[in-house]
Amino acid sequence: RRFSIGLTGGIGSGKTTVADMFAERGAALIDTDLIAHQLTAPGGRAIPDIHAQFGAAFLTAEGALDRGRMRQHVFSDPQAKSRLESILHPLIRIETERAADAASAKQAAYLIFVVPLLVESAGWKQRVSRVLVVDCSEDTQVRRVISRNGLPETQVRAIMAAQATRAQRLAAADDVIDNDGDSSALAPQVDRLHAIYSKLATQQ
Ligand code: ATP
Repeated sequence: RRFSIGLTGGIGSGKTTVADMFAERGAALIDTDLIAHQLTAPGGRAIPDIHAQFGAAFLTAEGALDRGRMRQHVFSDPQAKSRLESILHPLIRIETERAADAASAKQAAYLIFVVPLLVESAGWKQRVSRVLVVDCSEDTQVRRVISRNGLPETQVRAIMAAQATRAQRLAAADDVIDNDGDSSALAPQVDRLHAIYSKLATQQ
């Protein structure tokens, strides 16, 4: 089985920042959010099923998933949420496998799947060799998301409340990157893990 890392962390924890640093060192990144966006863009492979099950009202004029509308709908209706997930999850799985095969063929040192909701989604932990959590305090998350997106604090806290807790994420972690500090504190941590992962990858 190919050696792969599942990188996760709460909103604003620094997943993208850290993932990009691993990519600079030779890891291949597979971004599940990006894949989900492609599947639900105009002409995306999830669109026909979304149309059939939810109706045209959940598509934009261009034929993409209307994210705002769907978010509201699934927020108040858990059954709709699981119907949407049963459309998206198998497709995300197929597309991430395809991306992983392409990266392996290009001889990347190892693979990093960036999965924001890894701890929350059944099955992901079993698909990767190790789980890497980017960790910071909740107050740091809130501060970063407010300054990046200009969202009100109550909204950021509501998003966080719908995600796994910091403790749940840490309990699922094989490795942790502490991103509570300055971004200059990241490089030594990434270097150390990159050395370990590169070695483990050759031992597979
Ligand atoms: P999301 O889940 O919301 O997509 P993320 O976990 O991918 O977020 P990033 O986008 O990497 O997080 O970081 C969130 C914001 O915080 C960005 O604006 C980023 O530049 C900033 N940031 C990340 N790490 C640090 C740090 N150590 N010091 C200061 N700012 C940081």
